Amino acid sequence: MTGASAACVFCQIARATTATTLLHSDDRVVAFQDINPSAYRHYLVIPVAHIPTVKDLDRRPEDFALVSHMFQVGQTLMSRDAPQSKHRFGFHQPPFNSVDHLHLHCFALPFIPKWKHIKYLSMGPLGGFIEAEKLLEKITP
Ligand SMILES: [Zn+2]
Ligand SMILES: [Zn+2]
Repeated sequence: MTGASAACVFCQIARATTATTLLHSDDRVVAFQDINPSAYRHYLVIPVAHIPTVKDLDRRPEDFALVSHMFQVGQTLMSRDAPQSKHRFGFHQPPFNSVDHLHLHCFALPFIPKWKHIKYLSMGPLGGFIEAEKLLEKITP
């Protein structure tokens, strides 16, 4: 499950084989701008390992540590690049995810255009989008 996939665009970005500018990179995660931004600032933080979706995460210390690290990197970038804005962080849940490689959406509000917020609403337990804090609660070991 965690092997790199040659067909996966996010795996290619994580291995820096694309022209995408990395805003952050370390041995576990990389961050970059969403190619189709929906907010004043819209970044993605992804694990270097190919983990398809939030459904592949569980109450395991390594999963919890990884998501905590992604969240922390996102918060650091948002406070650096958009200190005046309200920030939101979360994940799409299948089948609402666009790319099958786990990615944390990081937003500095406002959403642009405004209706775009609909894509990132948490819609209850079956919801399309889960806040980072909620996911961390769910996978606390
Ligand atoms: Zn991948
Ligand atoms: Zn997404």
